[in-house]
Amino acid sequence: MTLRNLVLVCGDQLDHHSIALDGFDPERDAILMTEAAHEATYVWQSKRRIAFFFAAMRHFRDAMRRQGRTVLYNAIDDADPPNSLGAGLKAAVAAHDPERVVMVEPGDWRVRHALLTAAGETGVPLDMLEDRHFYASIADFEEFSDGRKRFVMEDFYRMMRKRTGLLMDGDGKPVGGAWNFDKDNRKAFGKDGPGLIAPRAHYQPGPITVDVLRLVEKRFKDAPGTLESFGEPVTREDALHALEDFVANRLCEFGTFQDAMWEGSSTLNHSRISAVINLKLIGPREAVDAAVAAYESGAAPLNAVEGFVRQIIGWREWIRGLYWTRMPDYADLNALDAQADMPAFFWTGETDMACLRDMITRLLRTGYAHHIERLMGMGLYLLMHGARPYATHDWHMGLYLDAIDWVSLPNMLGMSQHADGGVVGTKPYCATGAYIDRMSNYCAGCRFNPKQATGEDACPFTTLYWDFLARHEDRFAANRRMVLQVRNLQRKDADEVAAIRARAETLRVG
Ligand SMILES: Cc1cc2nc3c(=O)[nH]c(=O)nc-3n(C[C@H](O)[C@H](O)[C@H](O)COP(=O)(O)OP(=O)(O)OC[C@H]3O[C@@H](n4cnc5c(N)ncnc54)[C@H](O)[C@@H]3O)c2cc1C
Ligand code: SF4
Repeated sequence: MTLRNLVLVCGDQLDHHSIALDGFDPERDAILMTEAAHEATYVWQSKRRIAFFFAAMRHFRDAMRRQGRTVLYNAIDDADPPNSLGAGLKAAVAAHDPERVVMVEPGDWRVRHALLTAAGETGVPLDMLEDRHFYASIADFEEFSDGRKRFVMEDFYRMMRKRTGLLMDGDGKPVGGAWNFDKDNRKAFGKDGPGLIAPRAHYQPGPITVDVLRLVEKRFKDAPGTLESFGEPVTREDALHALEDFVANRLCEFGTFQDAMWEGSSTLNHSRISAVINLKLIGPREAVDAAVAAYESGAAPLNAVEGFVRQIIGWREWIRGLYWTRMPDYADLNALDAQADMPAFFWTGETDMACLRDMITRLLRTGYAHHIERLMGMGLYLLMHGARPYATHDWHMGLYLDAIDWVSLPNMLGMSQHADGGVVGTKPYCATGAYIDRMSNYCAGCRFNPKQATGEDACPFTTLYWDFLARHEDRFAANRRMVLQVRNLQRKDADEVAAIRARAETLRVG
């Protein structure tokens, strides 16, 4: 078949309303999708993540076919499938001789480069279209950034609120008289815990997903994690249902307990839509509009809805803008010169630390952790351990269902590891075990003591915190927002600091 347009769709581009499908002519166009072994193995990935992507891709393929569209689909279990996205593209061009290849811009600088190179080798033009899934284009982000002295997410967020009119009153002021309600959104659950929160829906795997689960179990048997109780939404219908379920059952308390942690559960009041929104099964406008409608009907309070809207039109868009305006150099940043290997227990959860044991084993089981578990649990430990920033991003890409390069890299390397020296956040997020003690119930059941920095019972977070400050004392003393923390370090006597640093070294060796 000779084609007009070959529409290339990657695994994180399962957008039913994609701009690349505009004007699709079933007589002359075809979609190309490839389950590439390279994409499943270029970082060591969990079985769950691989299965999630392939299952969602196969359902998207079938949905497109039901709409009368031809889909050229390279399944990983075909005889002799292409190993990479570029190889899949070249084979399809050779077989179908399209006039042009068209796709939405990819979510990964590496993939963009590989596809442009592959297309270049075929001689067929490849048009990468601006992704209308997002609220802001990269040009919008550049316009916002240009010549700006103060470059912080909050200003970007306010600009986005004004631009979209979301949660604004008629006079250009924020609804409720404040731009954000963060001060109301940092509560812990208290000793009785979160109480009854409606559990997240389980999406029973149908025949397509069951086939994928079998395939992944066999082919990727040495990959980390488990496929047990796989119940992820992998279709647009289920993804929309997951959003509705959140808005109806958990949004109300999303704000208040946004930062709280509790042993045995990550979902708590969070939406858990990041994976389906990043695969584009649903759009950010659908999520934001549903939350705003809940506020307007009186079904959800402003602190919850504003908090949720900020995550999506603020943080998510800001992170994407940073990625595309700073890559590829951003990936090499290592402002704190962190050179340690990843601790091995990050792949197994086998540690005496009650908090990390619970978070990592759950992550291996579900492919999910909420924001504070990522930032003030696992990410915090890696920062203070001094792991190489790009290695922490690789680990994150391997285990989380929602990790796509554009969003994982600035969050992990920038926000969590401070490797960009203060672009995503103006100071490193560092704390002792006392923070985890305050925001969760972990420490009561742990063999370590969050108040101790030395000795057999010392909490590793607390030891590593003081060691981290001591290692970077000069740098942090020059940061206005870190001065108090550095002063507290300077109050300690030299013997205590030496003992802390010696213990930190033993922790680092493992
Ligand atoms: C170290 C670290 C790594 C992260 N890596 C990723 C990642 O690879 N992919 C990812 O989607 N998010 C990432 N985040 C952001 C955030 O933690 C997740 O989006 C969120 O936990 C997903 O769970 P949820 O859907 O229940 O989110 P909710 O808490 O319910 O928030 C709603 C939505 O807001 C968006 N959002 C919130 N914060 C961010 C943010 N900082 N960046 C981008 N979107 C945001 C997400 O789409 C999320 O679904 C990371 C955060 C940290 C601290
Ligand atoms: S004492 Fe330290 S290691 Fe143990 S749960 Fe608390 S913060 Fe985690």
